[in-house]
Amino acid sequence: MLSYRHAFHAGNHADVLKHFVLHQVLNYFKQKPKPFWYIDTHAGAGIYALDSGYATKNAEYTTGILPLLNAQHLPASLQNFVDLIQTFNPTFANIYPGSPAVAESTIRADDKMRLFELHPADFDLLNHHFASNKRQVKVEMQNGFVGLKAILPPPTRRAAVLIDPPYEDKQDYEKVVSVCQKALSIFKTGTYMVWYPLLQRNEPGDMVSALQALQLKNWLNVSLTVGAPSTDGFGMFGSGLFIINPPWTLPTILNEAMPALVKHLSQDESAHYLLDFNIK
Ligand code: SAM
Repeated sequence: MLSYRHAFHAGNHADVLKHFVLHQVLNYFKQKPKPFWYIDTHAGAGIYALDSGYATKNAEYTTGILPLLNAQHLPASLQNFVDLIQTFNPTFANIYPGSPAVAESTIRADDKMRLFELHPADFDLLNHHFASNKRQVKVEMQNGFVGLKAILPPPTRRAAVLIDPPYEDKQDYEKVVSVCQKALSIFKTGTYMVWYPLLQRNEPGDMVSALQALQLKNWLNVSLTVGAPSTDGFGMFGSGLFIINPPWTLPTILNEAMPALVKHLSQDESAHYLLDFNIK
C-alpha cells in the first residue's frame, strides 16, 4: 500500500541536502559536452506548493529551505542552489521544486530524463507537470526498482541516478542494495545517489554498510544531523546520501557548503555533518 506523500515534507532539511547535492552532481555532468540521462527511480509529484495542501500541515520547509532563502554570505555552490530555488519564486517563497524539477532546470537541451513514480495521484501530478516537455522527459507509472534495471545502460553511457524511496516499507533498504548491485553489473560507470534517513533504528546504517561492501572503487557518504535524536526513539533527526561514482570535485564542494547547512538548518547544538569518501 502506498501511503507516503512527499508533499508533507517538501522543502525540509532532507530535501535541501538531497537537492543541493543533486544540483552539484548534475552541474559536474554538464562539464563534458556528451549528453547524459538523469534517472529518478522515485520521482514524487515533481514540484510542490508550500502555501496550500499537504505542505502546510507541518510546514517542514520553515526549518529547511526557508532559512536558506533568507541567509547571507553562503558558499558559492550553495548560493547557486538557492538561486535556482529563487527562480521558482520570483515574488515570495511558495513553490518548492522536487528532484525532477531541480533536474529539469539544471540539465541541457540534449540531456534526457527518465522518471518513475508509483503513486497514482503523484504520478498524475508529475505527468501533468512534464506534459509539455515530452521530447526530453519520459514519465512512467512503474516500480522504479524494476524500471531502472530495464533502462540501463543509457544510450550515451552517461547517467546520474537518484534512488529516493520512502522507506516506509522496510524492505526498501534491501531493495536499494540489490538494485545498486544489479545496476552496477549492467552499467558500472553510472553515478548512483542513494538518499537515506537518519533514524534510531539499524536499517539505514546497515544499508550504507552493505553498499560499501559492494567493492566499490569510488564512493562518498555525506550526512547532515539537524538535531539530537528524540527521547521517544521516533522521528528523523537528519539524512544522508551515499553516492557511487561521485564527481571527484564533490568532497571539496561539500567541505565548503556543509558547515553553512549545519549553521542554517540546525535545530539544536548537536547539529553536525559527516563526510567520508574514497575516490581514486
Ligand atoms: N525524489 C523526490 C524528490 O526528491 O522530490 C521525492 C520522492 S519521495 C521520497 C518517494 C516517492 O516514491 C513517493 O512519491 C512514492 O509514491 C514513490 N514510490 C514508492 N515506492 C515506489 C516504487 N517502488 N517505485 C516508484 N515510486 C515509488
